[in-house]
Amino acid sequence: MNLILFGPPAAGKGTQARRLMDTRGLIQLSTGDILRAAIASGSDLGRRVEAIMGHGELVTDEIVIGLIEERLPELDAAGGAIFDGFPRTLAQAEALDAMLERRAHQIDLVIRLKVDDDALKARVAGRFAQAGRADDNPAAFEQRLVAYNRDTAPLLPYYEQHNKVAEIDGMAPVAAVSAAIDAAIDGPQF
Ligand code: AMP
Repeated sequence: MNLILFGPPAAGKGTQARRLMDTRGLIQLSTGDILRAAIASGSDLGRRVEAIMGHGELVTDEIVIGLIEERLPELDAAGGAIFDGFPRTLAQAEALDAMLERRAHQIDLVIRLKVDDDALKARVAGRFAQAGRADDNPAAFEQRLVAYNRDTAPLLPYYEQHNKVAEIDGMAPVAAVSAAIDAAIDGPQF
């Protein structure tokens, strides 16, 4: 089973991806984590993407599609993946479908975490003061939200037309979000 965790920055995608990895035996493929690891390692790729990420802009489709493609061989052994933070553009969604089809896989479910912009800003305000991610500062976060609303939210109809989207209230307490996601995954379509 292959899932996409879909939603704006700080919606709780990472938390849910890690939980699903532990409970369902799926692998987590987070392009944000892969890119941060590239920066930490000081690789060429890391140097190329560091400033873009620091400003909350999207890195190119070519880079993230390539990173995901490299990891797809892991799918067969794991029985599926949770895509976290990918795809973020229509080109990425189309490339993912094509790459999965070549491996006789498909996206089974898109879990959309709905959280409104004001609630997100309030949620991350406390994080800004702590030393953490380079892009957890007010200016970069604002830009990440802009990029989400401009490039990523318009992807939803692509998945909705195939009836693959489960809408989850991401403002609910974590336990309730987790329960709603489990109910969607264990729903009648699987
Ligand atoms: P995330 O950890 O998913 O919030 O991603 C952090 C940052 O990495 C984003 O703000 C982008 O700069 C970059 N990034 C992660 N995934 C993608 C993607 N699928 N497409 C483009 N940029 C991405």
